[in-house]
Amino acid sequence: MIIKPRIREFICTTAHPVGCAELVRDRVERLRGVRLDDAPKRVLVIGCSGGYGLATRIVCSFAGGADTVGVSMERAPEPDRTGSAGWYSNRAFEKLAADAGRRAFTHEGDAFSDEMKNRVADTIAEQFGQIDLLVYSLAAPARRHPRTGEVHRAVVKPMTPFSQLKTLDTDHGRVIEVSLGAATGSDLDDTVAVMGGEDWAMWIDALAHRGLLSPAFRTYNYTYIGADATRPIYGDGTIGRAKAHVEETAREIAGRLGAGRARVVALKAIVTQASSAIPILPLYASLLRAVMNERGGQEDAVDQILRLFRDVDPDRDVDEEGRIRLDQAELAASVQDEIRARWPHVTTETLATLADFPGYRAEQLGLFGFGVPGIDYSLDVDPMEAAFMERAA
Ligand code: NAD
Repeated sequence: MIIKPRIREFICTTAHPVGCAELVRDRVERLRGVRLDDAPKRVLVIGCSGGYGLATRIVCSFAGGADTVGVSMERAPEPDRTGSAGWYSNRAFEKLAADAGRRAFTHEGDAFSDEMKNRVADTIAEQFGQIDLLVYSLAAPARRHPRTGEVHRAVVKPMTPFSQLKTLDTDHGRVIEVSLGAATGSDLDDTVAVMGGEDWAMWIDALAHRGLLSPAFRTYNYTYIGADATRPIYGDGTIGRAKAHVEETAREIAGRLGAGRARVVALKAIVTQASSAIPILPLYASLLRAVMNERGGQEDAVDQILRLFRDVDPDRDVDEEGRIRLDQAELAASVQDEIRARWPHVTTETLATLADFPGYRAEQLGLFGFGVPGIDYSLDVDPMEAAFMERAA
């Protein structure tokens, strides 16, 4: 079939196998010659197929020389329907890892379930003996609680009602204003159940129980802190509360494993499937891109994660809350002052001059393997074919 992007709001229901593979290959290629000898060698990444999780798996494997287990939620392809972008990215990653002599095992399904934890524990026990690092990079819309069976749905809402909130209608490139009602108590509880730290702790417990954590074991969980523009909806909203719960959980896990063994890592805003779904974020990210392109210091997920493993001493390089910070360039006063200055003036008409919407849009399409330079999108592709893997090699 000829595969075209079919976008509805922030979701693309198709993905291009060759494009997804090419983007993985490109990131791996960028790390050629980079060697992180002291990086952990047996790594588990929960949420491995996109955004920061995929970048982590790539950096650990190709710069750090690690063998990896990855967990993500995917849709496999069917003869007349493409798989999810993450499904193709996982296959491309596995092929490139095998070519480089790294072992890579991927489990696709629900990370929140006991069944997945058992499957992953079996793989670690059989293949690695133990792991040295668990990175929790899950961003999920919902969670079936493994003890109660209840399905919790995360909502992105402020704690007080918000009217005339500027955001971007990315389908049409229009700046619009929306009103958001305040979160209820159950909205908050549900969001904390999905995006808080409980499942992270359950993973650590399940693996510790089976003796699968090495003496040098550490664990990281990724967070976004953000600044004024995003604070009402993110930091001070339901997601921010869930992230506060992740920080409490880091302290609990470190209490059991040892000081500094569990860290929250604050990263910069990037375009991912998860971040596109958060109101304000696409507009903020388009402004941030423009400002950082002008001033320099632009980084993508691989740049951020490479710095995490190359430049950070997790015992020393932490803020007063014990978090590792890689978001300083984004939060620099000069960058945030400029975003604050542009914010009231950004409209549909001024979007092209004040923000980098084309760059945002290109990255968003790239999440699904579209718009990748050098790929002929008019060619027939079998969504089930493994031919894309040959290309990835
Ligand atoms: P993403 O959407 O790119 O990736 C999410 C991953 O979670 C995917 O691999 C997906 O398959 C997996 N997943 C979702 N539900 C699952 C389930 N039930 N079982 C198994 N796997 C599941 O997300 P992202 O933006 O890279 O976010 C990852 C983490 O990084 C989050 O904690 C997020 O808060 C944090 N972070 C993101 C940004 C940003 O701007 N995107 C910035 C800072 C921190």
